[in-house]
Amino acid sequence: MPRPIEAIVHTAALAHNLQRARCAAPDARVWAVVKANAYGHGIERTYDGFRRADGFALLEPGEACRVRQLGWTGPILLLEGAFDAQDLAACVRLQLWHVVHRPEQIAWIAALDTRQTQHVFLKLDSGMSRLGFGPRAYRAAYARLRALPQVASITHMTHFADADRDHGTDRQWALFRETVAGLPGGHCLCNSAATLRQGRELLAPGEWVRVGISNYGSSPDYPVHDAAHWQLQPAMSLRAGLMAVRQVRAGTAVGYGSTFRAERDLRVGTVACGYADGYPRHAGTGTPILVDGVRTRTLGRVSMDMLAVDLDPVPQAGVGSEATLWGASSQGTVLPIDEVAQAAGTVGYELMCALAQRVPTRVER
Ligand SMILES: *Cc1c(COP(=O)(O)O)cnc(C)c1O
Repeated sequence: MPRPIEAIVHTAALAHNLQRARCAAPDARVWAVVKANAYGHGIERTYDGFRRADGFALLEPGEACRVRQLGWTGPILLLEGAFDAQDLAACVRLQLWHVVHRPEQIAWIAALDTRQTQHVFLKLDSGMSRLGFGPRAYRAAYARLRALPQVASITHMTHFADADRDHGTDRQWALFRETVAGLPGGHCLCNSAATLRQGRELLAPGEWVRVGISNYGSSPDYPVHDAAHWQLQPAMSLRAGLMAVRQVRAGTAVGYGSTFRAERDLRVGTVACGYADGYPRHAGTGTPILVDGVRTRTLGRVSMDMLAVDLDPVPQAGVGSEATLWGASSQGTVLPIDEVAQAAGTVGYELMCALAQRVPTRVER
């Protein structure tokens, strides 16, 4: 028998979450962001759920190739553009749209010998100091691109650093507007947080939004709002079986380092999931977990292949019972990934992206 652990990717949840973004930004066109292997869910496993997206946004031609192999003939955007001139050849071959954030990328386009013209997203660094032309260089970059016969269209793009808090986009949004004023071309500004929180105020019809995390059912502005607030459903559930159960006396240590000692007599379950499966080792005693759909807590340190759980709230649980590490239990109870992430001092993004290869994953339609 294989180890009793599995991840489930919920197609209906992906489609539902995508629809939530559409409701928040009704006239926008939506890029489903599937970088990092669809945030750990698997590009192939999420494709069905994202069929109604307007395009797929990702980082590398290799990922784009996988989306094309699934039969997608619509737009695909390389979010960081070409990493070298060879990537541009792949853009031509796979008909990819691509970001331009530094001068070399313009030179590579100018050197392209092709009749197939390019859809380019020109990126402004409006304050995050990560990628893009500064406001002074931006209009010159635009003019250079505009003059190239290889360029079919230019969309103005920037990325928000603080879209998860009130007024977090104000300064960047103002600088963006000022910089692109009068230049023809569409806009592409919002990530999940900006789309859900400000879709209606920030967007003009036909603009593109880049939606990642909320599509996967994690709240983009947790803990200000949780996934339930945004009516998002978990797209990934991580479930494992109870491998052993024991009664321990008050004072007994549980797990490596003996960091946890039972406060009272306790029933303790051993779950077949550890940090080598992608469960965060930094999730300490008290991290929420479901057993047979009932909420309880983890105990002690997470091992490589196992972790311990308090069975007091679930007296009927025994070997073979189901533990839900995050997502939905078989009973339908939900444990938001954001709560587990918070207990481990991280974000839902990191947990889903870190789901280990060794966890068998199936798609539930
Ligand atoms: C990853 C990424 C996104 C998606 O961000 P979420 O917070 O997951 O919605 C949007 N834009 C760019 C440029 C990205 O790299």
